[in-house]
Amino acid sequence: MGFWWRPLVTLSVIALIALMLWAGGGAALALKFAVIALLAYLARQLWQEKRLARWLEQGGDRPAPSDIGVWGDIFYRLEKLQKRQSQSQSELVTALGRFQHAAEAVPDGIVILNEQDRIEWCNPASRRLLGLDAARDRGQYIHYLMRQSDFVDFLNARDYSKQLNISSPANRDLRLMVQLVPFGAEQKLLMVRDITELERVDAMRRDFVANVSHELRTPLTVVGGFVETLNDLDKPADADLKHYFGIMLNHTRRMQRLLDDLLTLSRLESSPATVAEEQVHMPELMRELAREAESLSRGRHAIRLQIDAQDWLSGSLQELQSAFSNLVSNAVRYTPEGGEITLRWFEQNGHAVFAVTDTGEGIASEHLSRLTERFYRVDRSRSRESGGTGLGLAIVKHILTRHQARLDIQSTPGKGSTFSAIFPAERLIPAQGGEQQPRLSLVK
Ligand code: ADP
Repeated sequence: MGFWWRPLVTLSVIALIALMLWAGGGAALALKFAVIALLAYLARQLWQEKRLARWLEQGGDRPAPSDIGVWGDIFYRLEKLQKRQSQSQSELVTALGRFQHAAEAVPDGIVILNEQDRIEWCNPASRRLLGLDAARDRGQYIHYLMRQSDFVDFLNARDYSKQLNISSPANRDLRLMVQLVPFGAEQKLLMVRDITELERVDAMRRDFVANVSHELRTPLTVVGGFVETLNDLDKPADADLKHYFGIMLNHTRRMQRLLDDLLTLSRLESSPATVAEEQVHMPELMRELAREAESLSRGRHAIRLQIDAQDWLSGSLQELQSAFSNLVSNAVRYTPEGGEITLRWFEQNGHAVFAVTDTGEGIASEHLSRLTERFYRVDRSRSRESGGTGLGLAIVKHILTRHQARLDIQSTPGKGSTFSAIFPAERLIPAQGGEQQPRLSLVK
């Protein structure tokens, strides 16, 4: 309900009493009463106005003065208004605080620039990515701190649909994608994202495609060349035919091996992180691997088998067999005739170790850390001649990682190498049925 009529009631009551006094006691008495009453009324108004002014001066935080009548109403309504306002103000402050915390927590750099490209605010991530300091650099022109010409051109172009990739001014190893987003009257948000990993993966993908194309091109060219030659010959001699088909078969097998290894890698990458938990009978698998080495070697090497542990392994039989076969096949391929290859299964410091030692050509130390990269070879033509694809150790590493195991490579050029797959104790299953094996056997 409004309260505008209340002063009218007071003034009407004063006028009514004055009229009654006039009728009963004369005009002088009525006038005296009216003057005194109006002065009292005015004094009360002034006093209340003063109370209101004082309350407002104090910021309106304390409870409003209380009173009856119209002033009580005014005080009550003002206090209510004031409460509502301070509540929405504190809600605003909370929301702002929450926004600031969120902006501080995001891993991307955020910088607020004013219309002259001066820094108004920046979040902690922009310190790591751009080397900015919120307190120190506030008010600085952003292009004084980020001087790369690419960036300055980008900033001046004001083309908000574009993004720019640059190196971080704080750390040359970091690659950043920056973007400008307009907001408010003339302000801009500078958004900065770390794309180092993305660019690395992209470069790896490009290298990988280039490598695969390169690996396939040579055998395809050879096979294509012979098919053309055969096509041009009227009556090829049987001996020539046999020779040509032999070469074509070799190259076709090479492509086949490459595609098989590529498919194995791709299957490993797309299969779930957890491996099948089969109980792999290691002593039996060792004997099978020794037979495989024997058949690959075709009598050119002495193959030794040393089983010092009877434990089984928990893991995927198919994957483990593939990893161990790769190591055995490498030992045979990179060990000259007359050399020795030893397969061992033993325990060491609570770990189980599958090791292949050869007396082959060995590997210089600078290559060791890169051997498990795809298509990395110490000697490309040596690898190809022996039927290598350059993917074997990448497959081994992948499979071992899936089994929480690691690959250790020890090698001395000219003397030989030992490739060891080291499994954690959790993957060991104690020997079943207490079987015994000869400690060292020469496979024949
Ligand atoms: P590849 O198919 O070329 O053998 P791998 O990934 O199996 O590919 O091995 C990568 C490289 O590591 C080989 O090209 C070879 O140079 C080196 N290598 C692997 N095993 C041995 C070994 N037992 N002795 C010497 N060098 C080896």
